[in-house]
Amino acid sequence: MPFSPLGLSSALCAAAHAAGFAAPTPVQQATIAAVLQGRDVLVRAQTGSGKTAAFALPLLQQVLPQQAARRAPRRVQALVLVPTRELAAQVGDVLKGLAAGLSPVPKISVVFGGVSINPQMMGLRGGTDIVVATPGRLLDLVDHNAIHLSELKTVVLDEADRLLDQGFSEELARIVALLPAQSQNLLCSATFGPQVSALAQTLLRDPVRVEVQDAPDTRPDIAQSAIAVDTRARTQLLRHLIQQYGWSRTLVFVATKYAAEIVADKLRKAGLDAEPLHGQLSQGKRSQVLDDFKASRISVVVATDLAARGIDVVELPVVVNYDLPRSADDYTHRIGRTGRAGQAGLAVSFVTADTEAHWRLIEKRQGLDVVLEAVEGFEPTEVAASPQALVDHSGNGGVKGKRPSKKDKLRAAAA
Ligand code: AMP
Repeated sequence: MPFSPLGLSSALCAAAHAAGFAAPTPVQQATIAAVLQGRDVLVRAQTGSGKTAAFALPLLQQVLPQQAARRAPRRVQALVLVPTRELAAQVGDVLKGLAAGLSPVPKISVVFGGVSINPQMMGLRGGTDIVVATPGRLLDLVDHNAIHLSELKTVVLDEADRLLDQGFSEELARIVALLPAQSQNLLCSATFGPQVSALAQTLLRDPVRVEVQDAPDTRPDIAQSAIAVDTRARTQLLRHLIQQYGWSRTLVFVATKYAAEIVADKLRKAGLDAEPLHGQLSQGKRSQVLDDFKASRISVVVATDLAARGIDVVELPVVVNYDLPRSADDYTHRIGRTGRAGQAGLAVSFVTADTEAHWRLIEKRQGLDVVLEAVEGFEPTEVAASPQALVDHSGNGGVKGKRPSKKDKLRAAAA
């Protein structure tokens, strides 16, 4: 099915094709049509479903690109709220990419904290068509009288569950109170806990519900595997896997900023072009690392959970959990960075004697049945230091020769 029957203008259909979208994804089919009909929409979609373009395309159709002279000072027509700076930058890039061929080109402003507010205030002075913002910085700008939300026509809350997870509920309540009564509102979330449902009830009027989370054809194709390894051998194993299987781009997750620095440094010393990515780096440096990763100027990024939120690198073949995530939910977020846009992905988790019990919990919560295997030359010798980490291995050990080996799986996934 092409984009045009959804009601998009020919210029936006052309923009979608130019972005490489041959046909709308299921979430796009349902959302684009509903937004263009002026309805509020509640979108339940997982990462990689194409949800950003699902709201970006109709938003671009709805805003009337104003010539600079006609823009009302400090006014904005559409607002997209996102939980992190990375996601703000990414959504801004998607909007700008799709808008580039329109005439006139709508003005899109991206604002987030952690950088000076002054250039953002200057940028909004003459008004803008679409603002992509994190909640705290948006409120700072409102408080500085740099932006007025009174003429908003459309509001999108993207990744609402993460907005709430990150403690933005007070900011969200303030923002919702500032919205004009008649704005058209969209709420996207991967999960719907009580807080998200309450927010949806406050924000949305008789919404169209779009749910594509469980549709088998939109579930990312991610092969998952677990390797038992000694704690101190993980960096060497990582290097070995990257080199042996020729992984072109690898996103490695670690538990701390310190670990991100150390592991990236060791990989660099071993001849790999690796960079750390975490919340203590300047915004400029973080953006540069992501740009370099996307442009293949570096091939390994060693990231913490915080810094990795919102990363979207199409053709990210491999995610490695060097340190296991704290929760099953974090596991889902992490591995969702690969296998995007219909491509196959591979998620590899390193499991040490001390983290094996934790791995079993993640496995159980995820409903996984992954064989814990060892890689030749890296067979673990450590024993668990804490009693909780001791678990019964029966039936779970990766006995070589009896099941497909780690290498067989990795080869199959890389093929
Ligand atoms: P999202 O779920 O918005 O983060 O999008 C995931 C990825 O899917 C992005 O890399 C998009 O460029 C890509 N994408 C979005 N829409 C389509 C489409 N209709 N066809 C193919 N790829 C798409």
